[in-house]
Amino acid sequence: MATTTSRLKGDDCERDWIWEREVEAAPWEETRRLSVGAWERQYRRLRESSPFYQRKFREAGVGNSFVSLADLSQLPFTTKEELRQALDEDPPFGSNLCVSPEQVKRVYQTSGTTGTPSVLALTRGDMETWTTMGTRTYYATGIHEHSSVLTTFGAGPFVAGHTHFVLLRIGTRSVPVAPGDTERVVFGLKAGLADTLLSTASFAQYLANRLEKSDADASAIPLTHVVTGGEPGGGIPAIRDHIQRVLGVTVTEVMGIGDVAPSLFGECPHQQGMHFCGAGHIWVELIDPESREPMEIETGAEGELVYTALTREAMPIVRFLGGDIARIEGTTCECGRTSFRQRVLGRRDDMFIVRGVNIYPSAILSVVGEFRPRVTGRARVVRTGSDTSIEPPVPVEVEVTERHNSDPELIQQLEGAIHSRLLFRSKVDLVLESDFGEAGYKTRLTVRK
Ligand SMILES: [Zn+2]
Repeated sequence: MATTTSRLKGDDCERDWIWEREVEAAPWEETRRLSVGAWERQYRRLRESSPFYQRKFREAGVGNSFVSLADLSQLPFTTKEELRQALDEDPPFGSNLCVSPEQVKRVYQTSGTTGTPSVLALTRGDMETWTTMGTRTYYATGIHEHSSVLTTFGAGPFVAGHTHFVLLRIGTRSVPVAPGDTERVVFGLKAGLADTLLSTASFAQYLANRLEKSDADASAIPLTHVVTGGEPGGGIPAIRDHIQRVLGVTVTEVMGIGDVAPSLFGECPHQQGMHFCGAGHIWVELIDPESREPMEIETGAEGELVYTALTREAMPIVRFLGGDIARIEGTTCECGRTSFRQRVLGRRDDMFIVRGVNIYPSAILSVVGEFRPRVTGRARVVRTGSDTSIEPPVPVEVEVTERHNSDPELIQQLEGAIHSRLLFRSKVDLVLESDFGEAGYKTRLTVRK
């Protein structure tokens, strides 16, 4: 991938790095050293205060001896479902609460696996850690003190709302708008209230499509930077290039995991994947999605990201299966950061198998995006039943504008492109924007019917 010239105000990458060191992000070797010490303290906390992990470690046959970070694979994984069960065992905070309830200063109800909300409790220290990692993340994307940021991440009930603490810490101007409130977003951007937009990739794409139609020169809007988060998309060339071209901006992306940290990875203006920004607080492993054997974090490796909280006080997690399959893009960068870079290929749950080949729905987006303006850029796979294998033709729904509803030629071309690029047959259905669902939030890449 060629390096894209940044269109952000000044290329502050070097300054980023100096600043980042000031917020305790040390070079990688130093980070490892810090992590080793933090893990020793965390392990002690788990053995003393978490009935949930005491039991898990006992069941896994881990004796009383210390398990070092290097031997972390001896410890069992933790699933979202287990965290949910831990809550039921000892409500309201569960059998994995390692502090007194009085020390819990913020509680989020995150989306659970079975429809019942899951509870996430944080101490003051946990919130500060989230802010530190978030500050590194957003600073890496190019959001600095001089930025003015229009955010569409809900401030209230969602963990993404923590971003507002982060922007305050960086010292940006902040212009909060409710998710999906397109009118206020467009007004705010045209009026010059902000030069940076923070939104889901779906919303940024929707905005680009809309302005492309309504404005002769949408790139004249004083917006220079779009940071996407909440879902993959900002890193998919067909989506990113379109947003950049129409709006005349640089797109970088961020990523967080609700149960781990709302912002943990941030892409710098070199646009070569998201840097890990949780050093010293989160330990990341890469594992083979099927065998679950540990893999080396090295350029080109593809696997599932697994997280261990090194400094979390209230509800620590050990080897949490995040469900995201990522490709490691590199371990050095022109910006000077020494943490690895990654791009998410897709959710493990969204992956399906066609004739023995693993496919992520995001691969379909890369193909579909090239058919603009006849399509909007959104697409999803329709699954029936719980079988991971799909017998071709694979049912794919592609969002189109009114004018291209039931366009047999377009269907044929899309099916042909998917076949030649992804090597499987598909059955494309064109779906109107009004039927595809809200573009202000995340777009589900798989629907089950
Ligand atoms: Zn970089």
